[in-house]
This record gives sequence, C-alpha cells and structure tokens, in this order.
Amino acid sequence: MNVHKSFLTHLYCPECQQEFDARQIQTFCHECNSPLLAQYDFEKAKEHLNPQIVQSRLSGMWRWAELLPVHDPKYRFSLGEGDAPTLQANRLGEVLGLSSLYVKDESFNPTGTFKDRGLAMAVSKAAELGITSFVMPTAGNAGGALAAYAARAGLEANIFMPKDAPLVNRAEIQITGANLQLVDGLITDAGKQAAREAQKQGWFSISTLKEPYRLEGKKTLGLELAEFFGWELPDVVIYPTGGGTGLIGMWKAFAELETMGWIGPKRPRMVSVQASGCAPIVRAIEENASRIRFWDDAHTIAAGLRVPAVFADRLILRTLRESHGTAVSVTDQEIQSAQKQLARLEGIFAAPEGAATLAGLESLLKKDWIAPNEKVVLFNTGTGLKYVS
Ligand SMILES: *Cc1c(COP(=O)(O)O)cnc(C)c1O
Ligand SMILES: [Zn+2]
Repeated sequence: MNVHKSFLTHLYCPECQQEFDARQIQTFCHECNSPLLAQYDFEKAKEHLNPQIVQSRLSGMWRWAELLPVHDPKYRFSLGEGDAPTLQANRLGEVLGLSSLYVKDESFNPTGTFKDRGLAMAVSKAAELGITSFVMPTAGNAGGALAAYAARAGLEANIFMPKDAPLVNRAEIQITGANLQLVDGLITDAGKQAAREAQKQGWFSISTLKEPYRLEGKKTLGLELAEFFGWELPDVVIYPTGGGTGLIGMWKAFAELETMGWIGPKRPRMVSVQASGCAPIVRAIEENASRIRFWDDAHTIAAGLRVPAVFADRLILRTLRESHGTAVSVTDQEIQSAQKQLARLEGIFAAPEGAATLAGLESLLKKDWIAPNEKVVLFNTGTGLKYVS
C-alpha cells in the first residue's frame, strides 16, 4: 500500500499572492477571480523522494504522492489512471520531416481520456476534506470521469452537460447512477445552471480550476514527461486547449521539478491548439492581450475544445508567453484528416482534440516554427472510440 506522505503546505493565489489554508475546503480567489495553486515543502519532499524511488514504485499517478495533495492513503482513490505511454511516432515523423516525434497517448486512462487524472485527484482530496456531493458542468469527458471517481469513492455526482454532447458521455455518466441534467446550449450555459443548483443544494463545484486539485492531477502529465525524457524536457509540447488545466499543470510540474533540482532551466515551447470554431486563446495571443474575450457561437467536433470562456486565461497566456510558445487554430476538416493520418500511419485512433495537435503541428511546420531535429510531443488527450455514435 502507498503510505507515502504528502508535503502539501498551503494554497495561494497567483495574482495577489494571498495564502489559503489547505486544511479547509477552498475554491478560488474571489478577489481576483483566479484559480488557487497548491504549494509544497519541496525541501522535505526531497528527503523522501528522488527519481530512483519514483521509478521503483507501482505504476500510476500516485507514484508521486509526496508532490500531490492527499495526505491519507485511504483517500487516494484510483482506477489505474496515469502512466499512459509516450509513443515514438517514426512513420508520421518521417512524413512530416521530424526525427523525434512523440505522442503521449492518454487514451489509456480508465474512462478513455486524461480527464481521469484531474478528477481522481480532485475527488480524492475532496473526500479527504469531508465533501460528499459534487456538481460539475462538462462538455462530456470530465463528466464521465467525475461519475466514475465519485462512484469509486461512494460519493454523489450532479452533472450538467450540453444536450448534444457525445452519446457515450451520457451512457458512462448514467451507468454510475450520477444525476445527469442535459442543458440546451454550451458548457458555459451548463455552468450557469450548475452554479445556481449548487448554491441551492450545497453541492461542491468541481468545475475546471474553480477548485485547486484537478490541476494537481493534471500536473502528473508534466512529471511523467520529464521522467520519460530522462529529466531533460523536449523542445515543443503541443496541447489541445479547452480550459487549459493540462497546460498549466505541466508548467507547474516543470517549475516544481526544477525547485527540487531534478531538471534544469530548459523548458519546452508550449503550444495551445484550438478549433477555428472556438479559439479565444489563439485570438488573445494574436491580439497580445492578457485576458481572453468570450467566443460567440462556439462550434467544433472537438467537444473538449468548445470552451468559449476560459477561467484560467491569465495562467494559460502567461505559460504560452513565458515558454516562448504560441497558439494555433485548426479547422474541423483539418482535425478529421489528421485523425485519419494518425490512425493510418501509427495505429492511434485519437480523439478529435488529440488529432487537432497533429493538424496544429502541420501548420507550425509550414511556418518553419519547428526545426526538423527538435523533440516534439503531441498530446492525444483521449480515445477516438468515445466519439463514435
Ligand atoms: C477536456 C478535454 C480537452 C481540453 O483539456 P483542458 O484541460 O480543458 O484544456 C482536450 N481533449 C479532451 C479529449 C478533453 O476531454
Ligand atoms: Zn487573489
């Protein structure tokens, strides 16, 4: 059994730096309307953890327990999430003229997407803090993951999802006995309804970055990436961005690893890929803005990217700029053709969101933004099987 301690110390707001007590239930900084970030005692963590120890443990996200927020092992709920493979994509690389192309294939997670990392962590920490019922607006996959982990922990989930979300998401939510409300409109409309009900019923909102711990689960993407590449990060990471949890989480992981002396200062250039039918982050990067504006009439086949208002916009935009990265948008048609290419050349049936990273890569290669010998990682965030209806 995993008896390792957590070295979580407190939470803080990255905008006003105010500290928050992590022994109590926290949400976000209401003064700044900003997510809260978890802080750890890295000096102490280092006394208990080194790369060899992490590598000697059973596979999965909880290998990194010292750097994760749950103290009591009995609340570390798991369905086997994490440690999804990083696959070298040689045939695809050859076609694109890249010598070191990789796909981090998150379709291996229990509910078929990387949402499991965040929800496993948030549900576990919430259970440790005594929360018993959750509410969440979702484009689909996060709802499926919440439903699974709430069932695993024996807790109640109330999920608000657009009517036109993939059918598989309905099925996976309903089979767990979670309460599912179908909403006319987008995830932002689902969010409004969820917030109203949450207040009335006293449910805890586990909406993207409105609580601090989904981010800590997604952080493990960055920890695994550093480990896979021998503690020397790749040159470019291409990530399909909706709410941005994975992007911000990886960036946080890299900073923490450097603080512990496990990696040096080198960082990948971080790239956000969005769908041209909903690209508020791309627009903000092009406009050199520090906040995003609401994207009207959001539409794309990549349901996870249909996020017209992004709560953590400041953190996402800062990450992209600090890393000397960028943001690109791709059309649904480009996503579909990339999906075929990935399947035909590598046997990977990617979610449209994951395929969007390949379409984004192709557009960056046309602009000579990436050199042929650079190490490039595409994030396939989920399995294409979830979108078949
Ligand atoms: C949610 C989701 C995304 C977007 O992730 P964020 O962390 O919200 O940016 C990408 N791909 C898939 C398959 C998703 O479910
Ligand atoms: Zn603040």
